[in-house]
Amino acid sequence: MSERQFFGHVIDGEEVPSVDGATFEVWNPWTQEVWAEAAEGGPEDAARAVASSRRAFDEGPWPRLGRVERAAAIHRLADVMADRADELATLDTRNMGKPFAQARHDVGRSVWNFRFFADHQRDHCGEVYPMDSGHHTYSEYGPAGVVAAVSPWNFPLMMASWKVAPAIAWGNTCIIKPSEDTPASVTMLGRLATEAGLPPGVINVLNGHGTPTGSSLVADDRVDRVTFTGSSATGKHLMASAAAHLAPISLELGGKGANIVFDDADIDNAVHWAVEAIFCNSGQICLAGSRLFVGSRIYDEFMERFVAAAEALTIGDPFDPSTKFSSLASKKHFDKVASYVDGIGLYGGKVLTGGVDPDGRWLVRPTIVTDLPLTAPAYCEEIFGPVCVVNRFESEEEAISLANDTRYGLNAMLFTENLSRAHRVASRLRAGTVWVNCFFIRDLRTPFGGVGDSGVGREGGNFSREFFTEPKAIVMQIDR
Ligand code: NAD
Repeated sequence: MSERQFFGHVIDGEEVPSVDGATFEVWNPWTQEVWAEAAEGGPEDAARAVASSRRAFDEGPWPRLGRVERAAAIHRLADVMADRADELATLDTRNMGKPFAQARHDVGRSVWNFRFFADHQRDHCGEVYPMDSGHHTYSEYGPAGVVAAVSPWNFPLMMASWKVAPAIAWGNTCIIKPSEDTPASVTMLGRLATEAGLPPGVINVLNGHGTPTGSSLVADDRVDRVTFTGSSATGKHLMASAAAHLAPISLELGGKGANIVFDDADIDNAVHWAVEAIFCNSGQICLAGSRLFVGSRIYDEFMERFVAAAEALTIGDPFDPSTKFSSLASKKHFDKVASYVDGIGLYGGKVLTGGVDPDGRWLVRPTIVTDLPLTAPAYCEEIFGPVCVVNRFESEEEAISLANDTRYGLNAMLFTENLSRAHRVASRLRAGTVWVNCFFIRDLRTPFGGVGDSGVGREGGNFSREFFTEPKAIVMQIDR
């Protein structure tokens, strides 16, 4: 095998190993081989990264740049990323097994995250209110300071860019800690920030595990904001840790998305999106449509087509262009998903198609399950894999009640050709995002986040502005 690559921390514009030289192995889940090593950050490395970003914020040029100039600098980084898109996508595919075409698409969305927030901070920088009392008052959105960002492994570059882009656009400096399962593309982002000429410390990358690397970062009282995407359990720890130094925290957590297909839906469209919503990225998607509710009049026809479409997905090597579906991201995650699948029969569930791959790959085939009681773990917990549990319903009221019967509330989908029903049901679903007759379409101006165990706060557009800045009101008297 060729020599292993190394992914260090990127601190102050330089790639460095950990102070104590500790490393961890980076796996390719498809080949089940170690292909790289990454620096395992300890408390000293976290402190070093925070000190660098603190310096860059307190003394460096970044927060003091004009808005047009800062936008231009971020567009330069986006240009460099776009130039190196194939390399970035290759790292994500090798690191977590997603089909290369998907990884390439994710890079495009990551580039867009930077471009969008660069422009947004330039164009949405305040409001002015003339007052009847002979004053005028205006708002100013100044940067908050040092941002600690902690991201998951399912969209390694895209999730990191969704945090780093608004943070730096609004004039903050940022330390991003990617998941220990996927350090590669985010480390490259740190390298590219240096290449694009961003001042040292504006984007620092800190590699390592949740504890002690991530926990040391979040607990550091020199950090002014914490933004986290990951599991609900970890989110609760982070919230407590950030609370100890009163750092505002934004939490984008897990989901158990409801997908409702009404009897009057366009069935071709609904089948297409039902497959995407649960099998894309091998189901490792917080927004997955993992609970599917189908109207009883179309149930048999829909299910026949849904199962056939799931079975038609080409499974294989993620670098093969014909592959649509591949392995799970790690052995640990495979074991978790497989244990849910193994438990389905015990609860009386029926597997219509799919199951754990018999060939020893870290792969669970597109799996569709019926007849599970609403209390079964596979029905109510987030599996974060390609497992769809299906129920039929008789009425609109029943569909809404089934969809809302969850601790989560990140997103929901509904399929209907009835315009009034679409509006009526969308408004009653308890979720941060509702897609009607589609899935995964985003406009970065809109709020993104979830209710209940799916998170706290919203990001996107002005919602990101509010989180990543210290808004200020300035009131001026006008002499008459
Ligand atoms: P995870 O919570 O295990 O880890 C996420 C990140 O947190 C990793 O970088 C990890 O190292 C770090 N971490 C873990 N413990 C920590 C601690 N004590 N202190 C600081 N950092 C710590 O989640 P995961 O398995 O990487 O990702 C899957 C989860 O993420 C799923 O629940 C999924 O739904 C969720 N997710 C949510 C969204 C969203 O937008 N709502 C998007 C993607 C993924």
